[in-house]
Amino acid sequence: MIIESSLQAEATIDREVVNAGDYYLKVVKKGQTVRILDLEGNQAADTLFYNANNVSERYSATDTIREQGNVYLTAGSVLMSNECKPMLKIVADTCGRHDTVGGACATESNTVRYALEKKCMHACRDSWLLAIAENEALGLSKKDITHNINFFMNVPVTSDGKLSFADGISGAGKYVELEALMDVVVLISNCPQLNNPCNAYNPTPIEILIWN
Ligand SMILES: [Zn+2]
Repeated sequence: MIIESSLQAEATIDREVVNAGDYYLKVVKKGQTVRILDLEGNQAADTLFYNANNVSERYSATDTIREQGNVYLTAGSVLMSNECKPMLKIVADTCGRHDTVGGACATESNTVRYALEKKCMHACRDSWLLAIAENEALGLSKKDITHNINFFMNVPVTSDGKLSFADGISGAGKYVELEALMDVVVLISNCPQLNNPCNAYNPTPIEILIWN
């Protein structure tokens, strides 16, 4: 569902460009709005959310899919935690569909999906692990890296229940905007993947904007 935002970029309290292969980690307070902007198009923003006051509570794809009765995320989707509490709501979306089933790239999956020699290529899971290692105070560890959201990524579920990684449907300037329903840690890996048509084999920067 396409819903445009009425928020003005000049009124942000924080904005940051994140290059492909880098991570973004910030706390967004309850009531604040965060926008993920696909600057050049067809990028994938692999995202995890945690309750900032208790990081053992985190985004849950299974609870979210069950509660909304839809495998895709878009405007109106409420992102649920593993304690089945609402964490964030997608309040604007100019892309129209986001994946939460396909998972993030890892060096291991690169070898299975693409080729053995892809093992050493940088992957989203590496960026998340680096983020939690460089931000020890948050109390996150490897076991907290679980199923995620791939904003802007097009992973259609086929009629026989399989996943197909398809060409991206996002474009330059498209965005998704979420209102925090609790204080959340936002952890994004701006995907460095070079082997997947979802990003046209060309990882590009994203920008993250926050409003009060
Ligand atoms: Zn990735």
